[in-house]
Amino acid sequence: MKNSIFENIDKIKGIGPKIKKKFEEKNIFNKIDLLLNLPIGSIDRRFCPKLDQLEVGKISTIFVKGIRYQFPRIRNLPNKVICEDQFGKIDIVFFNSRESYIKQIIPLNQEVVISGKVNLYKNKYQITNPDYVQLVESNFDIKKIMAKYSNITGVSEKTLQKIYINESSNIEKIDEWHDQRFLEKMSWLNWNESLKRLHNPENINDIDKNSIYFERLAFDEIYSNLIIFNEIKKRLKKITKVPKKINEEIVLKILQSLNFTLTDDQKEVLAVIKKDLSSDKKMLRVLQGDVGSGKTIVSLISAAMIISNNNQVALMVPTEILANQHYNLIKKILHFSKIKVDLLTSKLTMKEQNSLKKKIEDGETNFIIGTHSLFQDKIKFKQLDYIIIDEQHKFGVQQRINLSTKGNDGTDVLLMSATPIPRTLILTKYGDMDISTIKNKPFKNKTLTILKPENKLDEVISFIKKKIEIGDQVYWVCPIIEESEILKVNSVTKRFDYLLKNLNVEINFIHGQLSKEEKDKIMSNFINNKTKILLSTTIIEVGIDNPNANTMVIENSERFGLSQLHQLRGRIGRSGKEAHCILLYSNNISETGKKRIKIMKESNDGFYISEEDLKLRGFGDIIGTKQSGEKDFTIADPLYHQHLFEIAQSEIETNKQFNISRYELLLKIFKKDQILNIIDTG
Ligand code: ADP
Ligand code: MG
Repeated sequence: MKNSIFENIDKIKGIGPKIKKKFEEKNIFNKIDLLLNLPIGSIDRRFCPKLDQLEVGKISTIFVKGIRYQFPRIRNLPNKVICEDQFGKIDIVFFNSRESYIKQIIPLNQEVVISGKVNLYKNKYQITNPDYVQLVESNFDIKKIMAKYSNITGVSEKTLQKIYINESSNIEKIDEWHDQRFLEKMSWLNWNESLKRLHNPENINDIDKNSIYFERLAFDEIYSNLIIFNEIKKRLKKITKVPKKINEEIVLKILQSLNFTLTDDQKEVLAVIKKDLSSDKKMLRVLQGDVGSGKTIVSLISAAMIISNNNQVALMVPTEILANQHYNLIKKILHFSKIKVDLLTSKLTMKEQNSLKKKIEDGETNFIIGTHSLFQDKIKFKQLDYIIIDEQHKFGVQQRINLSTKGNDGTDVLLMSATPIPRTLILTKYGDMDISTIKNKPFKNKTLTILKPENKLDEVISFIKKKIEIGDQVYWVCPIIEESEILKVNSVTKRFDYLLKNLNVEINFIHGQLSKEEKDKIMSNFINNKTKILLSTTIIEVGIDNPNANTMVIENSERFGLSQLHQLRGRIGRSGKEAHCILLYSNNISETGKKRIKIMKESNDGFYISEEDLKLRGFGDIIGTKQSGEKDFTIADPLYHQHLFEIAQSEIETNKQFNISRYELLLKIFKKDQILNIIDTG
């Protein structure tokens, strides 16, 4: 597919090696990347007043003659050109411009067109540092609406403008992938015209998110995404596997040994998974449920129902702490059975690791728990029948695809996510998967959230003293120490000393830089109630379960995302007991900062919070693609353009002649072609 839109940007006039690099820092590599970096706003330069019609504060384009220079040659005093038309005078003021330059752009007694914001200084109209100055005979028209682009450091605004004006005026014609019928139905123009108009707006709202031009492009981005999901789904459907035998007996035994009964939601989800496992189609399912909704036990039971001495289940979790906790739980649940459970951690010696690897390869172990390390190439499973991934929101789509190709056709995959996503957004993230949701938690979370300014730390300390006296344990969370130099957040170490001094109880401090042994020790101390306070960075965020800890303090809470706060807070109030979460905020918190943490106080509903979080922070942050360094959408806004997702999905589903080859160019433009290659070979 030869097309000049894929040419490197260094082919563009005005882009040399230096500017090229600046663009690349913004992920702009070829011409189409450049063009898809849409304007963030526009400036209306169509207001062309005579000098007796000037209005302060308005962007104005005026036609004047320079009549006199005023170059004071005193430091800090600006240079000026007095200009006039038939109706009045105006000063054009330049800070930091050389005289020779000013003389060149505004030669006296020649008509020039000048555009900029008009202000009033000592009762005189002036334009300070005008955006545009041009001789009237020049053929570039200023009197129009101009697209404004987000800053690219090291590239001046004018250079940027020029590049875009040039490039967007001669975009290579491409073959349209939508049929005319569809474009007409949506009242959309073709791709070229839409793109061109966004860079050359004719009306102020041409570049708005809801303009027909913008929506056309947003739709295409969404469409490319859903096409890929759809393709993955299609290929999965073609894979058949040997249905798994369900061991009802073991399930019954586990259920009897639990000190609770499953909720209706849990039962329902379990039934669906059971159906998947015993069908002849490969399962690729995501189980989503708010923190504390009881996903773990569901997944473990689902594993137990198909596991035997002749096959294997792998459970992958994001941290070693969590791996340990799950390992202990599984051992407990399966204590009566012959199933062999093993934990693969980096804590093992080389020798132990090698011997475990061998066991995995020879099928001498059945249930293997670990972190990412489970899926290194050197680990070979004998008969991997089922992969469960806990808290998978830390992985991106790409990693997920890699994973689903691990194992073999018969390997079923269950992903568990604690990031509730509003229903309509599920498509954007899990379009290739089946989805189950646990809506209701086993017990109502009675966590009370309290907001406190950090100068009231004394009150917090005495509150905590009382809680510990009645047997409670406390999480004390500080923003990440390793990354905090820039942020100048409270040093956690200092806090540790402070707490030790002011509270006469056992405290441990856990953070990412400790060795695995140290971390495990600290965690088991806390879970066994040997320490009363666990001071930590955010590494406790994912999954840790200590029902006896029902108090949490989060420092600098305004620095966290809402979903992250919700995850953290989900560590407490898990046993139905009353719990307290104290959000400390700094004294110079902003108004919006305060608004945000107020949402936390008002709501305990993960879905509501994630929706609010989405509105406040944007999409990439919340679904965790930020961590995985992958961005799903650059044009479409999944919240704002929900309707486009629905249209896209229904187009794909209802279009009987849907043929992916027709969209080759579209997929390439949005860089989805590589993903397709992976599925092809995977
Ligand atoms: P999450 O969905 O966040 O992973 P967990 O699976 O860790 O939640 O469950 C949270 C807590 O609720 C655990 O202590 C678990 O033992 C308990 N739990 C799970 N299901 C039930 C239930 N049906 N009734 C009572 N407690 C339950
Ligand atoms: Mg969990």
